[in-house]
Amino acid sequence: MTVGVHPLAGFDKLLHYQVPVSLRGQVQVGSLVRIPIVNRFHLGIVAEFSEPKDFPVERCKPLAGLVYPFPAMPPDLLRLAKWMSAYYAAPLEGIIETMLPGAVRKAASLKQEKLLAVARELPAGEQAALAKRAPAQAKVYAFLRTQPRAVAKALVLDRLAVSAAAITGLVERGLVREETRRVERIAYDDDHAAGEHVAARPHALNDEQQAAVSALAGDVQAGVFAVRLLFGVTGSGKTEVYLRAIQETLAAGGGVAFLVPEVALTPQTVARLRSRLEAIAPDHRAVVWHSSLSEGERLDGWLALATGEARVVVGARSAVFAPVQNLRLVVVDEEHEPAYKQDETPRYHGRDTAIYRAKLCGAVCLLGSATPSLESWANAQAGKYGLLQLTKRIDDRKLPFIDIVDMRVEAMKQRGAVTLSRRLIDALHDRLTKREQSILFINRRGYSSAMQCRKCGHAEECPHCSVTMTYHRSDETLRCHLCGHQRGAPARCPACASPEIKWRGTGTQRVEEAVRRFLPKARIERIDTDTMGKKNRFREILAAFRAGRIDILVGTQMIAKGLDFPNVTLVGLVDADLSMHVPDFRANERTFQLLVQVAGRAGRGDRAGEVMVQTFTPEAGAIQFSRHADFAGFAQAELKVRRAFGYPPARHLLHHLFRGPNPEKLRFYAEQWKKRVEDALKEKVALMGPAAAPIEKIQDEYRWQLWYFCNAPVTGIVVELARLRAAFEWPDDLVQVLDVDPVNLC
Ligand code: ADP
Ligand code: ZN
Ligand code: ZN
Repeated sequence: MTVGVHPLAGFDKLLHYQVPVSLRGQVQVGSLVRIPIVNRFHLGIVAEFSEPKDFPVERCKPLAGLVYPFPAMPPDLLRLAKWMSAYYAAPLEGIIETMLPGAVRKAASLKQEKLLAVARELPAGEQAALAKRAPAQAKVYAFLRTQPRAVAKALVLDRLAVSAAAITGLVERGLVREETRRVERIAYDDDHAAGEHVAARPHALNDEQQAAVSALAGDVQAGVFAVRLLFGVTGSGKTEVYLRAIQETLAAGGGVAFLVPEVALTPQTVARLRSRLEAIAPDHRAVVWHSSLSEGERLDGWLALATGEARVVVGARSAVFAPVQNLRLVVVDEEHEPAYKQDETPRYHGRDTAIYRAKLCGAVCLLGSATPSLESWANAQAGKYGLLQLTKRIDDRKLPFIDIVDMRVEAMKQRGAVTLSRRLIDALHDRLTKREQSILFINRRGYSSAMQCRKCGHAEECPHCSVTMTYHRSDETLRCHLCGHQRGAPARCPACASPEIKWRGTGTQRVEEAVRRFLPKARIERIDTDTMGKKNRFREILAAFRAGRIDILVGTQMIAKGLDFPNVTLVGLVDADLSMHVPDFRANERTFQLLVQVAGRAGRGDRAGEVMVQTFTPEAGAIQFSRHADFAGFAQAELKVRRAFGYPPARHLLHHLFRGPNPEKLRFYAEQWKKRVEDALKEKVALMGPAAAPIEKIQDEYRWQLWYFCNAPVTGIVVELARLRAAFEWPDDLVQVLDVDPVNLC
């Protein structure tokens, strides 16, 4: 009997091994096994029971061992890995590595620990006798009696400084029980009390929530693959719907994966979910899964799922690879978030991968958002995804009105560039006197090399691509990074001839300084990448804000995700244009999403909220539609543009980046390669470029790029591109990266 194994040894080739008699019946498809390659041992995943095609069975070496008694990769994950390898043009070996926790790839043993608990009560008199005869034993016994549950033996030895013999003595007397258990480190356990707003009791659902839950329960019971888009305005109670769907799935005996964007995976969200899950399904513990877990924590969670001890995983993008057994429901919250896309190989999209995994398992994939991606929205419109809607905020609370501040007028009034408008300052001041709180957001996605007129708001666009052109300071040009079109940077605004046209950018620091200048008495804190990096500092600030010790919080919009601050009545967006005038066809979509999400942060408590948005282009569609949170209207207008230009979701987009020390050489090879692709895939792809990347040089390395537009299905085209790429004669000093369905174009 032989098996084909994917080695985890840095190359992509299926190798065959004999299954020794001792392992027959234990080795399965998906098992993690030890294999000899040349004269070293490696690990590998059993892919299939098959015989080698290119050499005789007798020459196959035997497997050297089986690591775990259960498959490390269930069949659906193995198939998912193969699909990802084809779809994202990435080596299978690397994908399998991504799916398995580091500790598993090192064949970590199932770590066990010994626990001690009192087995028999000792009458007081005998205790005193024990203390005389064997003081160390008495000390341990007395300690254990004070403990509500079993205690780790290691801890007892350490804390009480007794010898192991003392414990053995107690066990032999039958006074103490020793048991073995797999070691667990539960992530975020210390945060169980983090959320003050934890509502453990389930809410009575409103009609719309009930309708959504019934539809989902039907899907889960049917046990066939389906995708549902839960489109619910901010504060409409989507989380409640997720939780009920999870409850239904668990009751049906299924497993659940719940994905949230990494940034939203705050202790508060986790605590809230945990407590709600405990309330609806007390027997089920959710495994938490994200990038900053320690290797040991990750392993524990993985083992609990792989062995079926736990059936729910909550985590960021990579939780889509958690070995959940009998997966029946995959929830993707905030499905529009670009953070779902991984920006290193394998460059997979967490949402799309979730949909495919659900398909392989015959599970339900539930996508949720207040501002769905246009990809998902178009699929819902086409009837491919079932649409579930929550149109009302809980308790009919009003969505805050979005107040647009025209910065062109402000610039005129205040004579020159301003960071904060008079109206925003007045509104901040008003909150301060009322002892209410405010948040000021600065758009992190801001791209400093957009050129915009201070007077009329004009930003130059490429005549061929409908994206904002990028300002290159080095040679004073404006360039389109999609098609390469370029022109000299104007000294005066092409629209109004004002000389005040310059490149721009607003930092959190600048905003903080401006607020301090105008409101010296306000208590202000800033959250940006610096503070985000320091775990405790970030938490301290949030706790202080929640406790009312901070009046104004300044930060990037990312901090607001998943957070609920009832006393916040003013939210200001300092510079809406920063996300609009970026060279990305999704700029409008991102701006709309940003505005709606930011608005959703205001007025969550009993008081009405107010949102102020500063912009130089108040007439822009993204801004106008967001005033009334009119997603459908926005989507209709924006999809029309996408179709006209053939941008996603009308077609798939692929990005190919070429990096190297010599720009001429990059251009030459990119052009040669383009010809090769055009010859081979003429009708199937439309190419654009090659053109210099928007950031043309990073650390002395130049960057050129090529775009491919293809009609669905895209897998076959990617496979063909990967084949051509492998056969192409690339120079040694050229690195190239292919990104399928990229989400950040700059
Ligand atoms: P969303 O995710 O759609 O923005 P949430 O799920 O955070 O909204 O819900 C907003 C608030 O409303 C939460 O505090 C939640 O506990 C509460 N909530 C949800 N459903 C109900 C309900 N049926 N009755 C009362 N309160 C609810
Ligand atoms: Zn102008
Ligand atoms: Zn162009």
